[in-house]
Amino acid sequence: MLTVKNIQKSYTDSNEDVSVLKGIDLELKGGGIHAVVGPSGCGKSTFLLICGGLLQPSKGTVLVNDENLFELKGDERSKLRASLVGYVFQKFHLIPYLNIEQNILASSLSMPNENLEDRCKELVEELGLGHRLKHIPSKLSSGEQQRVALARALLNKPKILIADEPTGNLDTENGNAVFDIFKKFSDEGGLVLMATHDRELAKRADSIQSFDKGLLVSSI
Ligand code: ADP
Ligand code: MG
Repeated sequence: MLTVKNIQKSYTDSNEDVSVLKGIDLELKGGGIHAVVGPSGCGKSTFLLICGGLLQPSKGTVLVNDENLFELKGDERSKLRASLVGYVFQKFHLIPYLNIEQNILASSLSMPNENLEDRCKELVEELGLGHRLKHIPSKLSSGEQQRVALARALLNKPKILIADEPTGNLDTENGNAVFDIFKKFSDEGGLVLMATHDRELAKRADSIQSFDKGLLVSSI
């Protein structure tokens, strides 16, 4: 479902190239929950952004369902991303002046689908947010905001869910709730790719990909 080959990424900082990813190969077939772990700064977030088609690698290929993401034109890539990939950002990136319902629906405005409102209702009930629909994000706890970000990512029924430190701001109970959502998504055939420094969360994943200094150093 997701294959990356020889992914390299350098950022240019003060006219100096900083090499962040130095050739990552990874093949994730079928579904399952996969954790990317490693010290801060080793390139986890960069890797996830590239896998989600949100950041262009300096070199290498990303295949999503055999489509080469970065060989597609920008709008084709956006379409593929919108239909197959749900992305949960570390800091949620909810729109502060939109209510929860509007936040969940906002990312799909360009996807004409009359069932989205029903799907939104179904998701918020499932995630325990039904009573929060008309509130703005700042009125919600971090756990609730995280669930809104998840609902937004799941709205289009993606096949791949990418989450950056999904439990980073959460207590154990809310962290468990997030994992339960991942588990359900993967039991239904989806693929979860998450970066985490939460050892307990990583241990519950089907595989652990350890990064160090821009390289994949072990896969278990
Ligand atoms: P992690 O998520 O593992 O902490 P990141 O992928 O966020 O690692 O960052 C890896 C390295 O790349 C860090 O040294 C970080 O400072 C650098 N970096 C990340 N984003 C940028 C950027 N947009 N411009 C320059 N350097 C960046
Ligand atoms: Mg990070």
